[in-house]
Amino acid sequence: MNEIYSPKTFPLNASELREVIKKFPTPFHLYDEGTIRKNFRRLREAFSWAKSFREHFAVKATPNPAIVKLLARDGAGTDCSSLAELLISEKAGVVGEKIMLTSNDTPADEFKKARELGAIINLDDITHIEYLEENAGMPECLSFRYNPADIMNAGNDIIGKPAEAKYGLTRKQIFDAYKMARDKGVNRFGLHTMVASNERGTETFLLTAQIMFELAAEIKNLLGIELEFINLGGGFGIPYRPTEKPVDFKAVGEGIKKLYEKILVPSGLENIAIATESGRAMTGNAGWLVSTVIHEKNTYKNYIGLDSCMANLMRPAMYGAYHHITISGKENAPLTNVYDVTGSLCENNDKFAIDRALPKIDIGDVLIIHDTGAHGHAMGFNYNGKLRSAELLLREDGNIEMIRRAETLDDYFATLNF
Ligand SMILES: *Cc1c(COP(=O)(O)O)cnc(C)c1O
Repeated sequence: MNEIYSPKTFPLNASELREVIKKFPTPFHLYDEGTIRKNFRRLREAFSWAKSFREHFAVKATPNPAIVKLLARDGAGTDCSSLAELLISEKAGVVGEKIMLTSNDTPADEFKKARELGAIINLDDITHIEYLEENAGMPECLSFRYNPADIMNAGNDIIGKPAEAKYGLTRKQIFDAYKMARDKGVNRFGLHTMVASNERGTETFLLTAQIMFELAAEIKNLLGIELEFINLGGGFGIPYRPTEKPVDFKAVGEGIKKLYEKILVPSGLENIAIATESGRAMTGNAGWLVSTVIHEKNTYKNYIGLDSCMANLMRPAMYGAYHHITISGKENAPLTNVYDVTGSLCENNDKFAIDRALPKIDIGDVLIIHDTGAHGHAMGFNYNGKLRSAELLLREDGNIEMIRRAETLDDYFATLNF
């Protein structure tokens, strides 16, 4: 039968959760500090062989300064892709080269802010060299985002089609870009790519590293430029289904170490630092959307209506993504019923689950939607005038802090003139 590799847990039992709900009404996202720290340590451990390793946490996954700060305490930096994310990083105390700006179609004010903060700027296009120079001035350190196009697909169909993606520079442009930047006085260089998304297999990450390491060696041979760092991007997946296996970080780390020794060291590039910019694998399994059942409706199907909706978690509606659901206090009850679990948007795809086998649900039950810590609250929106929920953080000492209050109708009306 289906082996359980990734059991789904929640840090509070039913009576503890009831107490929390008395103080913080549902819906809310709850994050667990201990799990986030553990996720970061596992990633750092996988690259402990590298002379220098930095994880730039992808702020867009969980854009909250409290989360950025707790990761920064353990040594993580940030990966920012907008002005707001640069400000979140700054407010969390993460500045200078601990920030990597990896944006695209980048507006001038974002480059200016990145320069002001001393961030590493990672350009998405060769034309951005001049745009950056004109609008914010040339930094001494510059990185470029490489789009490996079809090299990735040769004999390998696990990765999508980078050639179809809007991101990054072509292979030819990469060489031209380093030359151009050097002529403009840049003297420290990095290389970046980001090709995987929610990938749990080891092979993809090794293939990415191999392509990047070979390119770094070629850049040295052809241009005499020794890169200071290689950022392998994010895209480390998490098992959303209990039957899925997590990323084998140990195997990924050891595999990349072998490639480093095989490709970079013989090229005289034994000092290149390694960076990643993981979001999902840091916070994804450390968050839960907690919601109360307000309706049960039996028509052609059986529907459970929650007090939350797609505005609080868009992934199921947007990608058909699976999010595991449990019912607080009924964790071990038999799965006797089949439901569609819905929100209240006037959109038929506003469903957290379709035809899901669950225990019998009663009105007032508290549902826990798992693995909402990354790209969950962050993707929220206000369609139908729905408001985004609060975010709570369970500290390692057991305290629960509200790290973002729920939106109010006053917030909603604040931008309207009439
Ligand atoms: C979204 C994104 C990430 C983080 O992706 P995860 O899947 O959350 O690891 C990292 N880098 C860039 C450039 C991104 O756009």
